[in-house]
Amino acid sequence: KTVIKTTNLQKIYNNSVAPVKAVNDISLEFKEGEFTAIVGPSGSGKTTFLNLIGGLDKPTGGEIFIDGTEISTMKESELFDFRLRNIGFVFQSYNLIPVLTAKENVSFIMLLQKRPKAEMEKRATEMLEQVGLSDKLNSRPNQLSGGQQQRVAVARALASKPKFVLADEPTANLDTESAFNLLDIMEKLNKEENITLIFSTHDQRVIERAGRVITLVDGRVSEDEVGSSRFEV
Ligand code: ADP
Ligand code: ADP
Repeated sequence: KTVIKTTNLQKIYNNSVAPVKAVNDISLEFKEGEFTAIVGPSGSGKTTFLNLIGGLDKPTGGEIFIDGTEISTMKESELFDFRLRNIGFVFQSYNLIPVLTAKENVSFIMLLQKRPKAEMEKRATEMLEQVGLSDKLNSRPNQLSGGQQQRVAVARALASKPKFVLADEPTANLDTESAFNLLDIMEKLNKEENITLIFSTHDQRVIERAGRVITLVDGRVSEDEVGSSRFEV
């Protein structure tokens, strides 16, 4: 089953000097349960691509279908609801709310979704247990290590049962142990709950674990490799 499909997707930034084709004619499909790493040099369009398929940014050309629904023509208010229901985000800088506890941060999206309070509490506690933070429910971000904060961010992204999770350089600020820990958790959720994962990354540790690796160069797909064949010599 196809979760995300783009056709001739394009994003041109009209900078003062010259227009930049940040995403240049990308047609791709992502299937349910796939774990994809998007790689490529800095400035190759990874973040722009994730922002487009996450509905955070509007394309200047082409289409984006999520479960068959075209999102690029949606109004901002519709898109806001669509994102809340369907997409989990994990960022390099964690983006937790400093004044809220781990449990409150994880509940935040569900709060916006107007879920019943009891369900919210239960799910937030469960998710924090899943990422190994059951003893940190009431800690605030500044009382947690970077790796722990990123695990809260993963719990938050997954708490609302999104169709897919987009992560922009999720391990960039993590030491090796925390990165492997995070990847173990994501991989488990990917396998057990069949959640589609798309990571942008420079991190070899992530690339080795992904089932599919897409390389961008100058806003275009230069390679798209699936399965273990790429490990063969
Ligand atoms: P990556 O994530 O691979 O580093 P980006 O998607 O951030 O690549 O950037 C792709 C290209 O688009 C770069 O040339 C970058 O400078 C340009 N770009 C990204 N965001 C903007 C923006 N908001 N305004 C203008 N140019 C941008
Ligand atoms: P990354 O390498 O993780 O994509 P960047 O440093 O390229 O991060 O971009 C960080 C932010 O700055 C992004 O939100 C991107 O849209 C914006 N940005 C990148 N390049 C430009 C640019 N040339 N002009 C304006 N904004 C930009």
